[in-house]
Amino acid sequence: MHLDVMDGHFVPNLSYGPALVEACRRRWPDTVIDVHLMVEKPGYFLEAFAKAGSTVLTVHQETTPHLHRVLQEIRDLGCSPGVTLNPGTPVETLRAVLGLVDLVLVMSVNPGFGGQAFIPGSLEKARLLCCWREALGCDYLVEIDGGIGPDNAARVVAGGCDVLVAGSAIFNTPEPHEAVRKIRARALEGVLRD
Ligand code: ZN
Repeated sequence: MHLDVMDGHFVPNLSYGPALVEACRRRWPDTVIDVHLMVEKPGYFLEAFAKAGSTVLTVHQETTPHLHRVLQEIRDLGCSPGVTLNPGTPVETLRAVLGLVDLVLVMSVNPGFGGQAFIPGSLEKARLLCCWREALGCDYLVEIDGGIGPDNAARVVAGGCDVLVAGSAIFNTPEPHEAVRKIRARALEGVLRD
C-alpha cells in the first residue's frame, strides 16, 4: 500500500498525514505501508509517521540538505529508509546515500497530482540504479511511481523496476480488481522478458 503524503508546499497539493497511516495500520496490521513523503523538512515528521505504523518512509532528496542524517533517523525509528527524486533531478545526486536505503523511488511524473503521463527518461534512471546496486553491493529495491498501468508495466519491470506504484490506472477504472490483475499479469511478462 503506497500512500502519497503532500504538504501544499513541496508539491502544490494537500493530502493527509499520520492519522491516515495509523487508521490503515489498524485496519491492515500485516500490510506493507509504503509512505512517500512529498513534504518540506521531512525530519519534522519522521517520528509521527513511524509511530503511526509506516513500514517504509521515503523522502525526497530535494526537501532536505541533511539527507544522510534523515535516512539514518528513519532506520533508527525502526522503519525502512527510502529515497526519491523529481524527474528533473539527476540520479547521480543519490549515489552517496545508496548504501543507507532499502528502496529508491524513481518518480516517472512530477509529484503532486495523479493521472499524469509517464516520462520515458525515467527508465534510464532505473537502469543506472540497477547497475550501481550491483557495482556497490547494495540491496535496495527500485520502485517506480507515476503513469504506471497495464500498457507499460512489462516495460518498466524488464527495465529493472522491482516495485510498481499505480493509482489512476486502478482507481479510475470501473473494475479496480480487474485493473490490478491486468497490471500484475503484464508485470510478470516483464520478468520473463528480463
Ligand atoms: Zn508516490
